[in-house]
Amino acid sequence: MKRKFNFSAGPATLPLEVLEQAQAELLDWNGTGVSVMEMSHRGKEFTEISNTAEADLRDLLAIPNNYKVLFLQGGAHSQFAAIPLNLLRGKTSADYLDTGIWSSKAIAEAKRFCEVNVISSAKSSNYSTIASFDAWNINSDAAYLHYVYNETIGGLELSHEPEFDNNVPLVVDLSSTILSRPLDISKYGMIYAGAQKNIGPAGLTLVIIRDDLLGNAVESTPTMLDFSVHAKNDSKYNTPATYSWYLAGLVFKWIKKQGGLSAMAEINQRKSKKLYDAIDASSFYSNGVDKSYRSWMNVPFTLADESLDKTFLEEAEKQNLVALKGHKSVGGMRASIYNAMPEDGIDALIEMMSGFETQYA
Ligand SMILES: *Cc1c(COP(=O)(O)O)cnc(C)c1O
Repeated sequence: MKRKFNFSAGPATLPLEVLEQAQAELLDWNGTGVSVMEMSHRGKEFTEISNTAEADLRDLLAIPNNYKVLFLQGGAHSQFAAIPLNLLRGKTSADYLDTGIWSSKAIAEAKRFCEVNVISSAKSSNYSTIASFDAWNINSDAAYLHYVYNETIGGLELSHEPEFDNNVPLVVDLSSTILSRPLDISKYGMIYAGAQKNIGPAGLTLVIIRDDLLGNAVESTPTMLDFSVHAKNDSKYNTPATYSWYLAGLVFKWIKKQGGLSAMAEINQRKSKKLYDAIDASSFYSNGVDKSYRSWMNVPFTLADESLDKTFLEEAEKQNLVALKGHKSVGGMRASIYNAMPEDGIDALIEMMSGFETQYA
């Protein structure tokens, strides 16, 4: 078996150790004689698995006690609707920051339920930079303020957490950057993330929500989109994505073994810096994102000659570097370098890029 360096944006590469443990336990979890996939989600064994996963996540992110952690399904896309339904709380408008494609999708969905004020848009910079917080046109009567911490497609990331002195709850899509660094959860009303980038396999969606925000969903909210229903039922109102939940638990343990989120942050910063430095040092490759807002997790880049894109991808594949093709909406290349991408993968990519430049530029 030959594992390749997989730069997929999501579903993304998982730590080898985690896959090996899952493989070893696949047929028989902990002497039970059954696979985790085959267990009742309400049984004692799965309860142990799900509780441990939540405890480890709480530990990693230092989640305060007045926050509920929900292990849901439906992806970040479902949250785009669940957020207004649950968080409008009698108000009629919400603030949204526009930093790229995922912001736009969240905005479009919210517009079905409320008035959306776009407080600042990166569109005029072609999504290459973000205005400073004091330039955001925030409204004190907004039900909440939503933004996407890391735009997975454009590679545009808020470099630090916004500071506001009003009481409007912050709601953040952390799908592609959760667990890449420590985060002050107490600054947020709600955090959500699809699992398939930096948590585990697809099928699981994480929601972390302050408990005073629960219980006020619009009356017509579908039961499955009502956070308070899931909170009351420990995310087992219906059958949860048990296997993805278990795998996420293994990933949480793996991150703890790496030294937790401060250690991950150091590694992630180093990994991304190496790659951006290599891109910046070359006149053949480029990344147009403002250096202060470059993503640690998704590094889009273009070749000086677009007609070489296909050859670049073929050469990369030959060197076991896969899934580097950029999103269809932006073209070029994109290296997604989540927690599970080893530093060796970055080194191999940089070496391949340099060799390609020498040969073709
Ligand atoms: C991938 C992604 C989404 C969409 O997630 P789904 O699970 O496919 O719904 C939303 N927001 C961001 C930032 C993403 O990276």
